[in-house]
Amino acid sequence: MVNRKALNNQNNYLCQEIVKLHNLNPMKTKFDINELESFDHIGDNHIGTSSDTPIREDAFRLNANEKIEIIRDDVKHIMETLGLDLSDDSLKGTPNRVAKMFVNEIFSGLDPKNKPKASTFENKYKYGEMLVEKNITVYSTCEHHLLPIVGRAHIAYISNGTVVGLSKMNRIVDYYAKRPQVQERMTIQIVKELQKVLNCEDVACIIDAKHLCVNSRGIRDIESSTVTSEFGGQFKNKDVRREFINYIQLETKF
Ligand SMILES: [Zn+2]
Repeated sequence: MVNRKALNNQNNYLCQEIVKLHNLNPMKTKFDINELESFDHIGDNHIGTSSDTPIREDAFRLNANEKIEIIRDDVKHIMETLGLDLSDDSLKGTPNRVAKMFVNEIFSGLDPKNKPKASTFENKYKYGEMLVEKNITVYSTCEHHLLPIVGRAHIAYISNGTVVGLSKMNRIVDYYAKRPQVQERMTIQIVKELQKVLNCEDVACIIDAKHLCVNSRGIRDIESSTVTSEFGGQFKNKDVRREFINYIQLETKF
């Protein structure tokens, strides 16, 4: 069971921190509407603030089950506020289902203990050319609207003596995708992680993805997609970059 008193104390503490962080007037009981609107614009323009996911130091003070319990109540509250009848059989299970999905699935990449193990191998066959893993499926969530981002990631690296299992690249993409994300940040985080695992700078990533917050609401442009890229080490060289892009454009049919 969640200790509600401790949680309230923690929430009070967080409120104070939020007040401090945004220089809000602590005497005000509600957010300033102008302030909220300025945050709104940041979100709708999808501006990220850092290459690290903004996460608090106490993010894992509660375990997964405690989080599910709290989020279940929060989702219930949202649905009730919208006027939905939660005694209806079709809606009854939704708060619990959403809470479990948030913690165990779509935001499980917030927890470092879910990071894929970094098993690398010696490059025994001395393969010295570029390795490309393309069309990796990306399912992520826009941190500004909490709506899906769906797309493909393409990764390349040039081994300097260490190689990584192919599926490891898919797993790294999935780990960073399973967070509230900004696509630019996700691209950088994937490259940084692979650079660390492979102990080399020569890593690149391109992501092409649809953001449902753009496709299904707001401007409602179903056709547009967003492309982001991060090129490390040798990939800053135009020819190397071109080679990578050529491989991505190969039509793979089996
Ligand atoms: Zn969005």
